[in-house]
Amino acid sequence: MNNVGYPFMRVGLYLHVPFCRTRCHFCAFTLQIHRADRVGRYLGSLSREIQLHAEKHSLAGRRLDTVYFGGGTPTTLEASQLTGVLQNVRDSFGVNEGAEISIEAHPDTVTEDSLGRLAEAGFTRISFGAQSMDDEELLQIGRRTSGSRTQGAVRMARAAGFTNINLDLIYGVPGQSVDGWLATIEDVLALDPAHVSCYALTVEEKTRLHLDVRRGDVMEPDASLQNDMENAGAGRLAAAGFARYEISNYARPGRACRHNLLYWEGQDYLGLGPSAQSYLDGRRFGNTESVQDYDLTLERGRLPVAESELLTADQRERERVVFGLRLIQGVEQGLLRHEPPDGTWRQALDQLTRRGLLEERAGRIRLTDEGRRYADSVAVELL
Ligand code: SF4
Repeated sequence: MNNVGYPFMRVGLYLHVPFCRTRCHFCAFTLQIHRADRVGRYLGSLSREIQLHAEKHSLAGRRLDTVYFGGGTPTTLEASQLTGVLQNVRDSFGVNEGAEISIEAHPDTVTEDSLGRLAEAGFTRISFGAQSMDDEELLQIGRRTSGSRTQGAVRMARAAGFTNINLDLIYGVPGQSVDGWLATIEDVLALDPAHVSCYALTVEEKTRLHLDVRRGDVMEPDASLQNDMENAGAGRLAAAGFARYEISNYARPGRACRHNLLYWEGQDYLGLGPSAQSYLDGRRFGNTESVQDYDLTLERGRLPVAESELLTADQRERERVVFGLRLIQGVEQGLLRHEPPDGTWRQALDQLTRRGLLEERAGRIRLTDEGRRYADSVAVELL
């Protein structure tokens, strides 16, 4: 494999850990409730998957710039299990010195001891799913934890040596006001994180929240209220020194998530675990979503890839633009090299600009404030 056209590609590894202690009401991710026997089987499968990719030279000898343990809740696994997987990754693929090694964590699933072991093994960044600091709001979305537990977890992480700490937040929770949202942000700022992610609550099909909304037991999130919350939150975070670098992500200088930047900059990444997606050398491929199929396929010695597509040069460039537009700085106009002869790409961009969703300035194309609210529809029109 080679990197024709993109000679300085960085490469990252995503590992999907499909276990949580309970399922939150809004969550549609691929996961199972944590059980020791399930974890044992999954770890065997993951180890086989790593081995198969190493044997196939899927990364063509490139060492990893980022490693990201996501889920689910990776920290439902014991620290020794997580550090064992990381060691396997180092031995099988190689990890560059100075690599960013991230892990997502639920505040209730970490201890002083586990955090110390993770830091010692080389994890450099931890991302806590806080969602809200208000216990009543947490109850509304089925999170069995509390703001004080998040505070305790962040303090323990810092004491263990983590300086690169992210907090994930959700706004538009049933019953939440703009003031309530700002109170959560104030509590979060008091914890002095390096990075904050703010997501609008959405109602996904096949979730408890979807059922509750359909039954009329819970009000659907109000889009206009969520816009007000987004603006208020962005303003407060900017005043506290956080730069918004992506639609939902805010970081202190130098603390943008390097792994997630790979996705938005069209760089390469390999995804392992059920439902994980990969993009390597212009090919997109994705693993089966079912945890059971994932285990069975690997137990038979095959990679659990359910879909795969080699993108044309035109598709690659469109994707680079569409994902790049999620970044606040937008993309260079020079990326649009493969304009089809009929000019459709240009027409779509012009039309989105006329509608006030895109703007072209100083050789770059960016989403406007309005365009950021409709980023998904803009992407559909451009792809
Ligand atoms: S902890 Fe995260 S992954 Fe697990 S159910 Fe809740 S939102 Fe989903």
